[in-house]
Amino acid sequence: MSSIFSKIIAGEIPCHKVWEDDKHFAFLDINPWTEGHTLVVPKKEHDYLFDMPEADYAALQLAARKVAALLKSKLNCKRVCTCVIGYEVPHVHIHLLPTNVMQDFAKPGTFGMKVKPDLAALAAKIRG
Ligand code: AMP
Repeated sequence: MSSIFSKIIAGEIPCHKVWEDDKHFAFLDINPWTEGHTLVVPKKEHDYLFDMPEADYAALQLAARKVAALLKSKLNCKRVCTCVIGYEVPHVHIHLLPTNVMQDFAKPGTFGMKVKPDLAALAAKIRG
């Protein structure tokens, strides 16, 4: 059975896409921790980041770097923070979190913006 992210990539479930290339897809997290919280996903399903074949792992990190640069320039933020968790969706994805101050990066257990931004408008701004 394909993962929820494979269904998003296939267009079967809607998302706010911000970038893609032939092997990767990036879209806004539906429950953002910071404004512009983006997930970068390999189109091929892998369960666990550090089990990925080396070439696929390296390509994903390079894709994440491209998307981080896009977020930084379009959202004019100071730093794009990153983490990989994967307990909720077992299809590898890198979280990219635009931030301006340390406090933007919420403590674990307090994730989730209190007021959700307009995701459609934000995705359009990032795509530019
Ligand atoms: P984790 O697997 O723990 O890294 O978390 C999965 C992330 O995927 C969470 O931050 C969710 O908010 C996000 N997520 C789950 N379903 C969707 C969806 N349909 N569209 C966008 N983001 C999603």
